[in-house]
Amino acid sequence: MVMPIVMYGAEIWYPGLNQQLKKTVKSFYVNNLRRILRVGSQTAIPAILLELGVFPVETQVKISLVKFAEKMQNNPTDKIFLNELLTTKNNKWSKFWNELLLECLQEPIIPQQEINQTFIYEATTKLQQNSAQIMLEQIKEMHSLSMYSVLKSSHQFEDYLSQISCTRKRTALSKFRLGNNILRIHTGTYTDEARESRKCRFCNGDDLEDEIHVFFECSFPEFQSLRNILQKQVQSEIYVDYAHPIDTLKSLLQKGTTSGLFAEYVFQMFKVINASFKQAKKIKTVLI
Ligand SMILES: [Zn+2]
Repeated sequence: MVMPIVMYGAEIWYPGLNQQLKKTVKSFYVNNLRRILRVGSQTAIPAILLELGVFPVETQVKISLVKFAEKMQNNPTDKIFLNELLTTKNNKWSKFWNELLLECLQEPIIPQQEINQTFIYEATTKLQQNSAQIMLEQIKEMHSLSMYSVLKSSHQFEDYLSQISCTRKRTALSKFRLGNNILRIHTGTYTDEARESRKCRFCNGDDLEDEIHVFFECSFPEFQSLRNILQKQVQSEIYVDYAHPIDTLKSLLQKGTTSGLFAEYVFQMFKVINASFKQAKKIKTVLI
C-alpha cells in the first residue's frame, strides 16, 4: 500500500530531487517498512530491506525508469522528447539515466540506447543483483548484525513473516534476528562501552552478552528451563545441538513449525530478560 503512493510518477520527479529530498523519501519509505516489521528506529536499514525482500527506493525508481523509457521510445511523440532529455547535458534526469546505463551495461554512456524487452529484463536483473549484493555486503560490516549476516545469504522475503500469525511472537523473532533488542552487545553501542567489555550479566561469565550466547549457551537457570522446553518441543523434527548454535538456529528457522516454536521461545526469553533488567533497576533505585 505504501509503495504505490511513494512511487507514483517517481521516474519523472525522483531524478530531479536534491540529496536532502531523496533522504526524506527514503526515510518515509523505511519508516513504513519498520512499522511492518515492528522493529525500532535503531534497526539497520539494509537488514530491514533484506528481511522483507524489498529494494531501496532508488533501485525501484531505476527499474521503473527503464520500463518508462521503453514506453516513451515506442511512442513517436514521446520518443522525440526522450531523445531530447537524454542528449541534453547537465540535465539531472539524463544524468540519472546515464548512471543507470553505466550500472546496467558497465559500458560508456550510450545516449540512444535501444530499449526493448531484453534490455528491460537484463537491466532489471542487473539492478536488483547489484542492490542485493550491496546490502548483503553492508550487513557483513555491521557488528550488530554479526549473527544476521550468517543467517541471511540471499535477498528474499522471510517465510516466518507470513507463517507466524501471532504478532508478538513474530515481532520477537524479527527483533532477535535484526539485533533490535536490549542485549548488552547492542546497548553497549549507545553507552560507548568497549565491545570486549559487554560480557553476559546473567551468568557473569566471560562470554559476550549476544544472541548466540544468551539464547543457546548461557547457564542462567531461567534460560536453561526455557531452552529445555524448546528442545522437547522440537526434538521430533530436528536435532538440537547446542554445541553448534548457528547450525541449530538455521535448522530451527527452516521449517514453519519449528520457526513458530522458536519464535515462542524468543518471546518468552525476551520477557525474562526485560523482567530481569526491570528488577535490577528497582534494586539499584532502592540502594541509591
Ligand atoms: Zn551468560
